[in-house]
Amino acid sequence: MPDTPKPIAELADACVKCGLCLPYCPTYSLDGVETESPRGRIALARHATDGSLAPSPGLRRHLDHCLGCMACQRVCPVPVHYGELLKAFRAELPPAAPRPRRLLRMLTSPAWLRLGAGLTRWTAARHWLPPLARALPRTSALRAAISLLAALPRPARRTVAAESLNVPTRGRVALFGGCVQGVFERDAQEAAARLLAAAGCAVVRLEGFCCGALAAHTGDAADAEAKARRVREAFAACGVDTLLTATPGCLGTLREALPGARVEDAMAFLDAHGQSLRFRPLERRAVLHLPCTQVNVARADGAVRRLLGRVPGLELDVLPTPGMCCGAAGSHMLEFPERATSLRERTLACMPLPMPDLMLTANIGCRLHLAAGLLERGVRVAIEHPLSLLARQWAP
Ligand code: SF4
Ligand code: SF4
Repeated sequence: MPDTPKPIAELADACVKCGLCLPYCPTYSLDGVETESPRGRIALARHATDGSLAPSPGLRRHLDHCLGCMACQRVCPVPVHYGELLKAFRAELPPAAPRPRRLLRMLTSPAWLRLGAGLTRWTAARHWLPPLARALPRTSALRAAISLLAALPRPARRTVAAESLNVPTRGRVALFGGCVQGVFERDAQEAAARLLAAAGCAVVRLEGFCCGALAAHTGDAADAEAKARRVREAFAACGVDTLLTATPGCLGTLREALPGARVEDAMAFLDAHGQSLRFRPLERRAVLHLPCTQVNVARADGAVRRLLGRVPGLELDVLPTPGMCCGAAGSHMLEFPERATSLRERTLACMPLPMPDLMLTANIGCRLHLAAGLLERGVRVAIEHPLSLLARQWAP
């Protein structure tokens, strides 16, 4: 069962207002105002809770602008449990503005996404969707959705029967499949299963449902809890004590759903337990984008770099991350497209030159958002999950 949540006032009172988190907050660096900083948001929550500040659409907007990147929580010396506070406070407030709910539902629906990807290919829409998107205002959720549609990769097929490779000397682990990534990053799922099997694990697959991260992000507590229950039931049914995810964006939500269980980033697990894995050389230049959740929640950035560093010949640049969320942030790219685009432009401005052959990123949301940005700029760089590259280079 999940732990009983702490009261918002108690969580907020832990903040000593030192401001050390401010330089790491992407929204503070975007707007430069206290109400768009972690310390400001904590103060807003505290005052709304004790009744000295009336909840208003403006207050809600400051909360909703938060990307949930957890950079503040990572650097906080106390530490303040900012993620817990944000989730609890968002759930208490009514939404500030009508949300693009239909678009958000489509974003987590594998069936809609498959249909969208099929139509995009069939109508060669990759070529005419970006100009259409550019004709719409930067504040339009439709513009963001059209850009994402143009950037959808081909839904990947299952390619390897990972279970057949198992030599289970390291016990059993479960691998979470998720929703969007289950359609567009099936190759990464297969890659994770294949490498885990090669490292000696028996892999149990939990496929095809949403962890509830998007619902939690939008403050839909009932939907988030329903999805957390599904995670608990599926995990209990597979009878293992370790759950791995190839998508760090799901990690925090999975950990909250499964207190007491070991929930890890698949690459962190492989870094720790896959010392026997060997990789073939690859003479390519790649840029590694580290999603906020991989850095601040999974804390697997070092593991990802070490794993990729084991591919001989692979030249790796890393996109800087402090204060540099790409703006995807779950539903943020559809709810606040103008802000998301500004954050993406700042991230893409850090791309190394000359352009690398390949971009690697582990979060499907970041991947789509960044791919849409590259497409808008007319830059052609292949993007894939780091696990896909590692599995391709794996030398059995
Ligand atoms: S959240 Fe932590 S780092 Fe930020 S102001 Fe409060 S105590 Fe300081
Ligand atoms: S989670 Fe990220 S965007 Fe939100 S307050 Fe913390 S650092 Fe800023």
